[in-house]
Amino acid sequence: MKQKRTEVAELGPFGLIDRLTKGFETHQESTLCGVGDDAAVIATTADQVQLISTETLFEGIDFDLTYFPLKHLGYKIVTVAVSDILAMNGRPQQITVSLGLSSKIPVEALDDLYEGIRFACNEQQIDLVGGDTRASMTGMVISVTAVGTAQRDAVSYRSGAGMHDLICLTGNLGAAYMGLQLLEREKRVLEGVTNPEPQFKGYEYLLEKYLKPRPRTDIIEVLAEEKIKPTAMIDLSDGLSSDLMQLCRSSKCGARIYLERIPIARQTNQLADEMHLDAVMAALNGGEDYELLFTVPLSMQEQVMRLGVVDVIGHITDEQAGCALVTPDGGAIRLKAQGFPESK
Ligand SMILES: [Mg+2]
Repeated sequence: MKQKRTEVAELGPFGLIDRLTKGFETHQESTLCGVGDDAAVIATTADQVQLISTETLFEGIDFDLTYFPLKHLGYKIVTVAVSDILAMNGRPQQITVSLGLSSKIPVEALDDLYEGIRFACNEQQIDLVGGDTRASMTGMVISVTAVGTAQRDAVSYRSGAGMHDLICLTGNLGAAYMGLQLLEREKRVLEGVTNPEPQFKGYEYLLEKYLKPRPRTDIIEVLAEEKIKPTAMIDLSDGLSSDLMQLCRSSKCGARIYLERIPIARQTNQLADEMHLDAVMAALNGGEDYELLFTVPLSMQEQVMRLGVVDVIGHITDEQAGCALVTPDGGAIRLKAQGFPESK
């Protein structure tokens, strides 16, 4: 009998993880939260938890070494891993880094990669404590595991958002995506040119957001100082649409966000115009922002606004309402996890 074959694409990213992890029972009392959030939560003492998260990046899919300086790549992978610990309202403490290496990478290039990792570790006061190196036939693979800590009652899960909670966002969106578009454009234009001189003038901020994003550790510190515990939180890696939908799916709620409240940097708008792209689409679906999206009770509106480092972009609704983007004319567009939103 022919075995049934299902393409991974048919299930989508959420469906695939659900299917693979279905039927796993928890055997350890210390496992407070397993698959399904930004990081696993493991009890260490009565009031402390350890947070663990792994991210893997592949050459040709997540980064292109023709324009990605290895020093920056080293820095970025630390941010990518650490961001998931922050998204649990935790403090990152250690990382391990494992590499799959193709023979085209010389040792000097790896020195650069580790210089970036070291810089990030020093800046964030975290320790590199292990890893593994293997040969790869298909280009470079980098896997980073981050370990962190939090007070047990301070952890913000994706599942805690409540009706009418405010949806808060740090930084601005779409800049990393436009930085990537710029690098890809210059790569196309300069293909085969000896001594290429790519034109990045005026768009340095976009390049930095893509090549060397900073983790929002500052936000976690500010929230702790102000005694604000988000009811739910997620870091923005896949794009606002997709990540907001994940948060809502975990919290069994809907959301309304307002288009004119989504912060977009001047350079993002400028390059989008120049390249005939839509800056709002970059903000909704571009991904790799590594900003934090969190919810707080409506009663905390003033307190959150006073911080000066977050924007309130919408509020939580009931599950049946789904996730909607409200346009300035009052129309509502249903958000989609991938690609472009469709009109309702
Ligand atoms: Mg995440």
